[in-house]
Amino acid sequence: MSRIAYVNGQYLPHANAAVHVEDRGFQFADAVYEVCEIRDGCLVDPTLHFERLERSLRELRIAVPTSRAAMLVVMRRVARANRVHDGSLYIQVSRGRARRDHVFPTPAVRPTVVMTAKSVARAKGEALAEQGIRVITVPDNRWERVDIKSVSLLPNCLAKQAAKEAGAKEAWFVDADGFVTEGSSTNAWIVTRDGRLVTRPAEFGILRGITRTVLLDVADRLGLIVEERAFTPAEAKAAAEAFITAATTLVMPVVSVDGDAVGDGRPGPTALALRQAFHASTERVPL
Ligand code: PMP
Repeated sequence: MSRIAYVNGQYLPHANAAVHVEDRGFQFADAVYEVCEIRDGCLVDPTLHFERLERSLRELRIAVPTSRAAMLVVMRRVARANRVHDGSLYIQVSRGRARRDHVFPTPAVRPTVVMTAKSVARAKGEALAEQGIRVITVPDNRWERVDIKSVSLLPNCLAKQAAKEAGAKEAWFVDADGFVTEGSSTNAWIVTRDGRLVTRPAEFGILRGITRTVLLDVADRLGLIVEERAFTPAEAKAAAEAFITAATTLVMPVVSVDGDAVGDGRPGPTALALRQAFHASTERVPL
Protein backbone atom coordinates (compact mmCIF):
# COMPACT_ATOMS: atom_id res chain seq x y z
CA MET A 1 0.00 0.00 0.00
CA SER A 2 1.43 3.37 -0.97
CA ARG A 3 1.61 5.87 1.87
CA ILE A 4 -0.50 9.02 1.64
CA ALA A 5 0.66 12.50 2.57
CA TYR A 6 -1.33 15.70 2.96
CA VAL A 7 0.17 18.72 1.20
CA ASN A 8 -1.71 22.02 1.14
CA GLY A 9 -5.20 20.63 0.76
CA GLN A 10 -4.39 17.49 -1.20
CA TYR A 11 -4.01 13.85 -0.15
CA LEU A 12 -1.34 12.32 -2.37
CA PRO A 13 0.74 9.15 -2.64
CA HIS A 14 4.23 9.96 -1.27
CA ALA A 15 5.73 9.56 -4.73
CA ASN A 16 3.63 12.54 -5.93
CA ALA A 17 3.64 14.58 -2.72
CA ALA A 18 6.02 17.54 -2.87
CA VAL A 19 6.59 21.10 -1.78
CA HIS A 20 7.90 23.86 -4.00
CA VAL A 21 11.70 24.23 -4.44
CA GLU A 22 11.37 27.74 -3.03
CA ASP A 23 9.42 26.70 0.01
CA ARG A 24 11.02 28.46 2.98
CA GLY A 25 10.98 25.24 4.97
CA PHE A 26 13.27 23.70 2.34
CA GLN A 27 15.38 26.83 1.75
CA PHE A 28 15.84 28.13 5.30
CA ALA A 29 14.36 25.58 7.73
CA ASP A 30 11.79 28.36 8.25
CA ALA A 31 9.20 25.91 9.54
CA VAL A 32 7.93 24.22 12.67
CA TYR A 33 6.64 20.72 13.32
CA GLU A 34 4.87 18.39 15.72
CA VAL A 35 4.93 14.62 16.17
CA CYS A 36 1.85 13.15 17.78
CA GLU A 37 1.56 9.58 19.00
CA ILE A 38 -1.19 7.36 17.57
CA ARG A 39 -2.15 4.57 19.93
CA ASP A 40 -5.02 2.07 19.76
CA GLY A 41 -6.55 4.04 16.88
CA CYS A 42 -6.48 7.34 18.79
CA LEU A 43 -4.50 10.56 18.54
CA VAL A 44 -2.74 11.11 21.85
CA ASP A 45 -2.81 14.58 23.43
CA PRO A 46 -3.79 16.54 20.30
CA THR A 47 -4.74 19.62 22.35
CA LEU A 48 -1.27 19.90 23.90
CA HIS A 49 0.28 19.47 20.45
CA PHE A 50 -1.98 22.21 19.02
CA GLU A 51 -1.01 24.54 21.85
CA ARG A 52 2.71 23.96 21.28
CA LEU A 53 2.37 24.23 17.49
CA GLU A 54 0.56 27.56 17.80
CA ARG A 55 3.18 28.81 20.25
CA SER A 56 6.03 27.82 17.88
CA LEU A 57 4.25 29.58 15.00
CA ARG A 58 3.65 32.69 17.12
CA GLU A 59 7.29 32.87 18.19
CA LEU A 60 8.37 32.81 14.53
CA ARG A 61 5.52 35.05 13.33
CA ILE A 62 4.17 32.41 10.95
CA ALA A 63 0.38 32.56 10.50
CA VAL A 64 -1.68 29.76 12.08
CA PRO A 65 -2.84 28.00 8.90
CA THR A 66 -6.27 26.73 10.01
CA SER A 67 -8.49 26.15 13.02
CA ARG A 68 -7.75 23.25 15.36
CA ALA A 69 -10.98 21.60 14.23
CA ALA A 70 -9.92 21.74 10.57
CA MET A 71 -6.46 20.51 11.48
CA LEU A 72 -7.96 17.59 13.39
CA VAL A 73 -10.04 16.58 10.35
CA VAL A 74 -6.85 16.37 8.26
CA MET A 75 -4.91 14.57 11.00
CA ARG A 76 -7.58 11.88 11.26
CA ARG A 77 -7.87 11.52 7.52
CA VAL A 78 -4.09 11.15 7.06
CA ALA A 79 -3.88 8.58 9.87
CA ARG A 80 -6.82 6.62 8.45
CA ALA A 81 -5.61 6.81 4.85
CA ASN A 82 -2.38 5.19 6.03
CA ARG A 83 -4.24 2.65 8.20
CA VAL A 84 -2.25 3.62 11.25
CA HIS A 85 -3.53 2.03 14.44
CA ASP A 86 -0.29 2.48 16.41
CA GLY A 87 2.43 4.84 15.26
CA SER A 88 2.86 8.56 14.80
CA LEU A 89 1.58 11.55 12.89
CA TYR A 90 3.94 14.26 11.63
CA ILE A 91 2.82 17.84 10.97
CA GLN A 92 5.00 20.51 9.41
CA VAL A 93 4.02 24.13 8.83
CA SER A 94 6.46 26.36 6.93
CA ARG A 95 6.24 30.10 6.34
CA GLY A 96 5.32 29.25 2.76
CA ARG A 97 6.78 29.59 -0.68
CA ALA A 98 8.40 32.78 -1.93
CA ARG A 99 11.26 33.89 -4.20
CA ARG A 100 14.41 33.14 -2.21
CA ASP A 101 15.24 36.02 0.16
CA HIS A 102 16.13 35.82 3.84
CA VAL A 103 13.59 38.45 4.93
CA PHE A 104 9.97 37.39 5.37
CA PRO A 105 7.91 37.69 2.18
CA THR A 106 5.66 40.76 1.97
CA PRO A 107 2.80 40.54 1.64
CA ALA A 108 2.82 37.35 3.70
CA VAL A 109 2.29 34.11 1.77
CA ARG A 110 0.11 31.16 2.70
CA PRO A 111 1.91 28.75 5.07
CA THR A 112 2.70 25.32 3.66
CA VAL A 113 1.10 22.46 5.60
CA VAL A 114 2.36 18.89 5.29
CA MET A 115 1.21 15.84 7.24
CA THR A 116 2.38 12.24 7.11
CA ALA A 117 1.64 9.23 9.27
CA LYS A 118 3.44 5.96 9.87
CA SER A 119 2.78 2.72 11.68
CA VAL A 120 5.18 1.59 14.37
CA ALA A 121 4.75 -1.80 16.04
CA ARG A 122 4.11 -1.32 19.77
CA ALA A 123 5.98 -4.54 20.54
CA LYS A 124 9.21 -3.01 19.24
CA GLY A 125 9.11 -0.16 21.77
CA GLU A 126 8.16 -2.54 24.56
CA ALA A 127 11.07 -4.87 23.74
CA LEU A 128 13.47 -1.91 23.75
CA ALA A 129 12.08 -0.67 27.07
CA GLU A 130 12.72 -4.10 28.63
CA GLN A 131 16.35 -3.84 27.57
CA GLY A 132 16.88 -0.11 28.08
CA ILE A 133 19.02 2.09 25.90
CA ARG A 134 22.54 3.53 26.03
CA VAL A 135 23.16 7.26 25.70
CA ILE A 136 26.28 9.26 24.97
CA THR A 137 26.89 12.93 25.74
CA VAL A 138 27.85 15.64 23.24
CA PRO A 139 28.36 19.41 23.60
CA ASP A 140 25.15 21.39 23.08
CA ASN A 141 25.94 23.45 19.98
CA ARG A 142 22.38 24.50 19.13
CA TRP A 143 20.90 27.99 18.99
CA GLU A 144 19.22 29.44 22.08
CA ARG A 145 15.64 29.09 20.89
CA VAL A 146 15.34 25.31 21.17
CA ASP A 147 12.04 25.95 22.98
CA ILE A 148 10.63 26.54 19.48
CA LYS A 149 9.97 23.24 17.71
CA SER A 150 11.60 24.28 14.46
CA VAL A 151 12.67 21.86 11.73
CA SER A 152 16.21 23.23 11.98
CA LEU A 153 17.53 19.95 13.38
CA LEU A 154 21.03 19.60 11.95
CA PRO A 155 22.83 19.54 15.35
CA ASN A 156 20.24 17.02 16.52
CA CYS A 157 20.84 14.81 13.46
CA LEU A 158 24.62 14.97 13.97
CA ALA A 159 24.22 14.09 17.65
CA LYS A 160 21.90 11.17 16.91
CA GLN A 161 24.29 9.88 14.25
CA ALA A 162 27.20 10.12 16.74
CA ALA A 163 25.10 8.09 19.18
CA LYS A 164 24.42 5.46 16.56
CA GLU A 165 28.09 5.21 15.64
CA ALA A 166 28.91 4.76 19.34
CA GLY A 167 26.39 1.91 19.65
CA ALA A 168 23.93 4.09 21.58
CA LYS A 169 20.34 5.10 20.87
CA GLU A 170 20.39 8.71 22.06
CA ALA A 171 22.81 11.59 22.62
CA TRP A 172 22.36 13.98 25.53
CA PHE A 173 23.40 17.55 24.88
CA VAL A 174 25.56 19.09 27.62
CA ASP A 175 25.62 22.89 28.05
CA ALA A 176 28.69 25.09 28.61
CA ASP A 177 28.26 24.74 32.41
CA GLY A 178 28.41 20.95 32.20
CA PHE A 179 24.70 20.25 32.67
CA VAL A 180 22.57 17.97 30.51
CA THR A 181 20.02 19.97 28.54
CA GLU A 182 18.06 17.25 26.70
CA GLY A 183 18.42 14.48 24.16
CA SER A 184 18.63 15.00 20.41
CA SER A 185 14.92 14.14 20.17
CA THR A 186 13.91 13.47 23.77
CA ASN A 187 13.84 15.03 27.25
CA ALA A 188 16.23 13.67 29.88
CA TRP A 189 15.43 12.50 33.42
CA ILE A 190 17.10 10.77 36.34
CA VAL A 191 15.81 9.14 39.50
CA THR A 192 18.02 9.89 42.50
CA ARG A 193 19.01 7.21 45.01
CA ASP A 194 16.35 8.58 47.38
CA GLY A 195 13.67 8.23 44.69
CA ARG A 196 13.25 11.81 43.46
CA LEU A 197 12.61 12.49 39.79
CA VAL A 198 14.90 15.15 38.35
CA THR A 199 14.44 16.89 35.01
CA ARG A 200 15.58 20.23 33.69
CA PRO A 201 13.14 23.16 33.92
CA ALA A 202 11.55 23.93 30.57
CA GLU A 203 11.96 27.70 30.71
CA PHE A 204 15.30 27.73 28.90
CA GLY A 205 17.58 25.38 26.97
CA ILE A 206 15.13 22.60 26.15
CA LEU A 207 11.95 21.84 24.27
CA ARG A 208 8.95 21.57 26.58
CA GLY A 209 8.10 17.99 25.62
CA ILE A 210 4.45 17.02 25.71
CA THR A 211 5.45 13.67 27.17
CA ARG A 212 7.44 15.54 29.83
CA THR A 213 4.43 17.73 30.67
CA VAL A 214 2.07 14.76 30.98
CA LEU A 215 4.64 12.74 32.92
CA LEU A 216 4.83 15.47 35.57
CA ASP A 217 1.11 14.77 36.17
CA VAL A 218 1.68 11.02 36.21
CA ALA A 219 4.48 11.44 38.76
CA ASP A 220 2.16 13.51 40.90
CA ARG A 221 -0.54 10.85 40.64
CA LEU A 222 1.96 8.19 41.74
CA GLY A 223 3.07 10.35 44.67
CA LEU A 224 6.61 10.85 43.38
CA ILE A 225 8.62 13.93 44.27
CA VAL A 226 9.88 15.90 41.27
CA GLU A 227 12.76 18.37 41.25
CA GLU A 228 12.89 20.57 38.17
CA ARG A 229 16.59 21.32 38.03
CA ALA A 230 19.53 20.60 35.78
CA PHE A 231 21.79 17.58 36.40
CA THR A 232 25.26 16.62 35.15
CA PRO A 233 26.31 13.43 33.33
CA ALA A 234 28.24 12.47 36.52
CA GLU A 235 25.05 12.77 38.56
CA ALA A 236 23.20 10.64 36.00
CA LYS A 237 25.88 7.94 36.22
CA ALA A 238 25.58 7.93 40.02
CA ALA A 239 21.75 7.97 39.94
CA ALA A 240 19.48 5.02 40.70
CA GLU A 241 17.86 5.29 37.26
CA ALA A 242 17.75 7.41 34.15
CA PHE A 243 15.28 7.63 31.30
CA ILE A 244 14.22 9.69 28.31
CA THR A 245 10.78 10.82 27.16
CA ALA A 246 9.20 11.67 23.81
CA ALA A 247 5.91 11.04 22.03
CA THR A 248 7.53 8.29 19.96
CA THR A 249 9.68 6.58 22.61
CA LEU A 250 7.37 7.29 25.59
CA VAL A 251 9.28 6.61 28.83
CA MET A 252 12.43 4.76 27.77
CA PRO A 253 14.88 3.53 30.43
CA VAL A 254 18.55 4.52 30.04
CA VAL A 255 21.00 1.86 31.24
CA SER A 256 24.30 3.58 30.54
CA VAL A 257 25.74 7.06 29.98
CA ASP A 258 28.99 7.30 28.01
CA GLY A 259 29.57 3.60 28.67
CA ASP A 260 29.12 3.79 32.45
CA ALA A 261 26.21 1.81 33.88
CA VAL A 262 23.37 3.71 35.52
CA GLY A 263 22.19 1.94 38.69
CA ASP A 264 22.52 -1.79 38.21
CA GLY A 265 22.72 -1.37 34.43
CA ARG A 266 19.15 -2.52 33.89
CA PRO A 267 15.87 -0.63 33.36
CA GLY A 268 14.73 0.77 36.70
CA PRO A 269 11.38 0.15 38.41
CA THR A 270 10.41 3.83 38.50
CA ALA A 271 10.91 4.31 34.76
CA LEU A 272 8.97 1.14 34.00
CA ALA A 273 6.15 2.12 36.38
CA LEU A 274 5.92 5.57 34.75
CA ARG A 275 5.87 3.98 31.32
CA GLN A 276 3.06 1.68 32.41
CA ALA A 277 1.02 4.46 34.02
CA PHE A 278 1.56 7.07 31.32
CA HIS A 279 -1.47 6.66 29.07
CA ALA A 280 -3.99 6.93 31.89
CA SER A 281 -3.12 10.64 31.99
CA THR A 282 -3.37 11.39 28.26
CA GLU A 283 -6.14 12.86 26.12
CA ARG A 284 -7.20 10.43 23.41
CA VAL A 285 -9.19 11.36 20.31
CA PRO A 286 -10.41 8.45 18.16
CA LEU A 287 -9.39 8.51 14.48
N1 PMP B 1 13.38 17.46 22.92
C1 PMP B 1 13.59 17.46 21.60
C2 PMP B 1 14.79 18.15 21.05
C3 PMP B 1 12.70 16.78 20.74
O1 PMP B 1 12.90 16.78 19.41
C4 PMP B 1 11.60 16.09 21.29
C5 PMP B 1 10.66 15.31 20.41
N2 PMP B 1 9.82 16.13 19.68
C6 PMP B 1 11.40 16.13 22.68
C7 PMP B 1 12.32 16.82 23.46
C8 PMP B 1 10.24 15.43 23.33
O2 PMP B 1 9.04 16.10 23.03
P1 PMP B 1 7.63 15.33 23.02
O3 PMP B 1 7.50 14.70 24.35
O4 PMP B 1 6.65 16.41 22.78
O5 PMP B 1 7.71 14.33 21.91
